[in-house]
Amino acid sequence: MPISIAIIGSGPAGFYTADALLKCGEDCQIDIIERLPTPYGLIRGGVAPDHQTTKRVARKYEQTALVDEVNYYGNVEINKDLSLAELRDMYDAVVLAVGAPGDRKLTIPGADKYGVFGSAAFVGWYNGHPDFRDLDPDLDISTAVVIGNGNVAIDCARVLLRTPRGMSSSDLPDHVGQIIHASPITDVHMVGRRGPLDAKFTNVELREMGELTETVPQMDAAQMPDDIEAAVADLEGRERRLKERNLNSLRDYTTRAADEKPKRVYFDFYAQPVEILGGDRVEGIRFERTEVIDGRATGTGEIFDIDCGLVIAAIGYRAEPVDGAPYDERQAIVPNNEGRVDDGLFAVGWIKRGPTGVISSNRPDGEIVAQHIKSDFAGATSAKPGRAGFEAALRERGVRWINFDDWKRIDDMEQAAAAGDAPRRKFVTVEDMLDALDNGTAEAANG
Ligand code: NAP
Repeated sequence: MPISIAIIGSGPAGFYTADALLKCGEDCQIDIIERLPTPYGLIRGGVAPDHQTTKRVARKYEQTALVDEVNYYGNVEINKDLSLAELRDMYDAVVLAVGAPGDRKLTIPGADKYGVFGSAAFVGWYNGHPDFRDLDPDLDISTAVVIGNGNVAIDCARVLLRTPRGMSSSDLPDHVGQIIHASPITDVHMVGRRGPLDAKFTNVELREMGELTETVPQMDAAQMPDDIEAAVADLEGRERRLKERNLNSLRDYTTRAADEKPKRVYFDFYAQPVEILGGDRVEGIRFERTEVIDGRATGTGEIFDIDCGLVIAAIGYRAEPVDGAPYDERQAIVPNNEGRVDDGLFAVGWIKRGPTGVISSNRPDGEIVAQHIKSDFAGATSAKPGRAGFEAALRERGVRWINFDDWKRIDDMEQAAAAGDAPRRKFVTVEDMLDALDNGTAEAANG
């Protein structure tokens, strides 16, 4: 009997683990379990709809899913349909690849007002994630503020500002496009609590903000370091190159005229949010100026407000506890030793190490865990029921699972329903996906 392995989560971390297991030289049977019918985690639900080239990595994951030893079980929720403890009894090894789907919370007064959204929710909404189908933000506003200086903050600002034409080859869902493209929004402020040198943007994303059709980037020269060379002098290698490029891009933005285009995106630094202003809904946000001391933002006592009708807190994701697994509340991860959590329990990706890095950063996580599993089970014969036991339990409980062929039918229907240059027209509710499988039609797409 091959070693039986269940991977919970079908995002990059889950798929890189499956791939590494297939290559590790042991005879493995690998089951990838996913809460949604659709696979690929943040590739489908996180990477921005206009970054289709990035989404192409899913083709590699598809090749892994099509290998005989690998099965896909979509629409199965661990700790609802089946507990983690039950899964561990069934499989030799269980790998947690559940990511960090929640938002790091903005905890300032007023953060619960209508019009304040965490980026996980906002990104999920514009990507047609079923959990956020009904977010329906009111974008009848002129100004938005995005808090945070990471790539997610940039994605949110760009998706708000891009023209319908600029989004025409994206898979932005219709109901989202209708709201965003009807919005009279003209100004987006991206506000970072530290300085331009500390911004976490990658340079391709930052430069893209300078090339938008209707939006001009704005940067206050007074917030730039006097000498870029000197500012990066203590850094080395890749980090130095990245920071230097970012500072050069931002310096270019100091020269752009505000009226060059109808809309503006402001890169504001050295400001930490202190309060959301307004009645039931957001009408503005109050900031305190900061200075960076020993790498940390420190308030100076100087206060200023920005009037706005929308605040997106793009201040990082947060992993949630998984029943039956330990959880480190402070770091918001499953505590682990190089991916080992407990006998037969492993963790990869953001639940292992927190919400940082790019897609390929998950590959080594999978390779390390595959090596642990190989050394733990080399030459052993599995006595656990594995896949057969898992399927029997699902049948007994009446759980309707989506196999990879089912997903490919959903995928085909989405692609067939696409209009113009769009690559697909996403189903945005689980019910619509299941109905379409039953009825063999894409009629329900994008409900
Ligand atoms: P991130 O890169 O960690 O950025 C979070 C930002 O929020 C930082 O600027 C941080 O400032 C700020 N922040 C945190 N807490 C704050 C607070 N209480 N008040 C004000 N600001 C606060 O996280 P992310 O943007 O969510 O991205 C997650 C990961 O996905 C990153 O590794 C990112 O590169 C990756 N990603 C990549 C792409 C791409 O390659 N195109 C696209 C999307 C996401 P400090 O630095 O001061 O803490």
